[in-house]
Amino acid sequence: MDFGISISPSSRIDLDNLKRDKWLKLIKIEPDALKCIACGSCCASCTGGIFTNVSLRSAILFLQNGKEEEALKLLKGCMLCGKCQMICPRGINTRHLIISINKIYSDEK
Ligand code: SF4
Ligand code: SF4
Repeated sequence: MDFGISISPSSRIDLDNLKRDKWLKLIKIEPDALKCIACGSCCASCTGGIFTNVSLRSAILFLQNGKEEEALKLLKGCMLCGKCQMICPRGINTRHLIISINKIYSDEK
């Protein structure tokens, strides 16, 4: 029966079975990833964000929670322009971080 509503898939994170091996590898070569305070400045200033759904902020949060595919999708439209790097209040080398994320999570699939 159609009630005109639908149930969204659960976004529950199973912390007991979280795969963090790639995340641990990432923060070993990119300790800056731990400095992110999820302020969203990078998204607000993102050049690619005008045309796509690029979001470094959300990608980092997804990676912390083992949601690799979702994170990679959010970085697909990144043009590596470096604008977010200039605005990041934590001084994170965002371009280098994005390159490392793509390398670790894409190459080793
Ligand atoms: S601007 Fe920097 S600190 Fe803020 S969400 Fe982006 S990467 Fe994280
Ligand atoms: S480097 Fe990527 S994430 Fe950062 S502002 Fe440019 S397109 Fe956006």
